[in-house]
Amino acid sequence: MMRRTKIISTLGPAVADEKTIEEILIAGTDLFRLNFSHGDHANHCRYAEMARSVANKIGKHIALIGDLQGPKIRIGAFIDGKIELKEGDTFILDMNLPLDQGDQHRVGVTYVNLAKECTIGQLLVLNDGSIELEIVEADEHSLNTRVIVGGILQSNKGINLRNGGLSAPALTDKDRKDMEAIAQMRLDYIALSFPAKADDIKAARQSMQDNGIHDAHLIAKIERAEAVADDNRLDELIELSDSVMVARGDLGVEIGDAELIGTQKNIISRARNMDRTVITATQMMESMIEKPLPTRAEVFDVANAVLDGADALMLSAETALGQFPVKVVESMHRIIVGAEKNPIAQKSLHRIDQKFRRTDESIAMATMYTANHLDSIKCVLCLTESGYTPLAMSRIRSHIPVYALSVHEHVLNRVCLYRGVTPFLNEWRDAQPMLVVENTIAKLKKNNVLHQNDLVLCVFGDFVGHQGMTNTLKIVTTP
Ligand code: PGA
Ligand code: MN
Repeated sequence: MMRRTKIISTLGPAVADEKTIEEILIAGTDLFRLNFSHGDHANHCRYAEMARSVANKIGKHIALIGDLQGPKIRIGAFIDGKIELKEGDTFILDMNLPLDQGDQHRVGVTYVNLAKECTIGQLLVLNDGSIELEIVEADEHSLNTRVIVGGILQSNKGINLRNGGLSAPALTDKDRKDMEAIAQMRLDYIALSFPAKADDIKAARQSMQDNGIHDAHLIAKIERAEAVADDNRLDELIELSDSVMVARGDLGVEIGDAELIGTQKNIISRARNMDRTVITATQMMESMIEKPLPTRAEVFDVANAVLDGADALMLSAETALGQFPVKVVESMHRIIVGAEKNPIAQKSLHRIDQKFRRTDESIAMATMYTANHLDSIKCVLCLTESGYTPLAMSRIRSHIPVYALSVHEHVLNRVCLYRGVTPFLNEWRDAQPMLVVENTIAKLKKNNVLHQNDLVLCVFGDFVGHQGMTNTLKIVTTP
C-alpha cells in the first residue's frame, strides 16, 4: 500500500552527505527541514543544494522548509559548560551578567526583558521541560528562583514561561536576515516560530513580500500558550497561514504535558476543516536517536498522529543528529502504513453538514465522494495550477491516491506536504487537459500503477493555465 501521511526529515550533521540523503529519500522522506536555529547560511545553502540534486537524480519531488528560529529565549553559557541544580537550591537569572559568565549561582539570559515580564510565583521551564524554577523574587534585571525540579543544566538551553505571557514579537532581526537567505535559496515553505497573534503572521508575510518571496507557503508553528488559549485566536492564526505545526516541544513546556493530546487533536481538526495542512512535530521517535528500534509508546504516538489526520510527521534530532537516520525514516514509514490501514484513516464524513463555497471545491468534494464509494476507482488525476484542488481533496479521508499534475516546479514541491497527494510533472505544457490525462494514464499503466479497465477520476478546468478554474470531473476507463 502507498503511504499517504508525509515524512519530514530535519537536515543536520548526521545526514550531511549525498549517500545518506539518498538513503533517507528512498526510505520515505518527502520534505526536508533546514533548521535556522543552528548553522550559518552557507551551510543551509549547501544542504539545500545537496537535497535537491539528489532528489532530482532519483526522480523524486521534495519540498524544503526553512524553519526560522524566532524569539526562542536561552540562558547564557556556563564557565564550566554545565552545572547541576538540586531541588530547593536558589538560582539567579541575571539579565546583566555577560552571556559567557554563568556559574553554580547565576546565569545570563538572551532576552533582556525577561525579568520585567515575569512575576513572583511563576514557573520557568528549562531544557524542554526537564528543569523547573519558581520565581521567588524579581526586580528589573534579575529573577531569584527556587529549583522545583533539578538536574544537569547545560549552556545555552531554552527557557519558557509556563502559561506564556512573554511579549517578544515572533519575527526577530535574525529571522529577517534569514528571510533574505531563504529568498535566495527559493525554499518551498517558511516556518514561523512562536507566533502568538495575527500581527506576527502579518509581519512574516510582509517580510516575505519585501524579499520577493511569492511562491513559498507559510507554516505557523503553534508553540505558545497564547496561540491555543482560545479557539478564536487559534482559528485566526490558522486562517492567516497556509499550514500549521503542532510544535510539541515548546508547546508542551508552555501549556504542560497533560494538555498536549487534546490540543494536538484540536489543532489538527481545526486546520483540516479550514483547508490548511498540518504537521505534528517533536520527539516522535526520540529514542531512535540512540537506538535502532522505536519504543512501543513512539509507535503509538506516530500511529495516533496519523489517525488524528496530520498531513506530515516531523523528525528533528532523530535525523539531524541521530545514530540511525535511515532506520528512523524506515520505521516511521512502516508504522504510518500500518496505521493507515485502520478504517478511521480511510473513511470520511464528507463535510455532510457544510455548504461549499466554490466550483473547484465542489468538484473536489464530488471527486472524493466518488473515490470513496465506487469500488473500481484506482486513482484521482488532478490538473492543478496552484495546488488548491488537490489540497481540498486531501482534506477528505480516503485510501485512493490523488496525483497532482502540474507544470510548475514549486507547485509539485508544495503538494509534497499534502496527505495522500503525489506530485506528477505535467510534461505536456500546452496540451488540452484530456490529452494530458490520457498521456498520464498511459504512463501510470507503463509503471504498473494502472491496469486495463481500471477506473480513473480525472479533474481539470476548461481553460489551461488558469488558477481556480477547475470545473470538470470525468470518469475514464484505462484502455
Ligand atoms: P523547534 O520547534 O524544534 O524549532 O523547537 C518544534 C517544537 O517546538 O516542537
Ligand atoms: Mn519550538
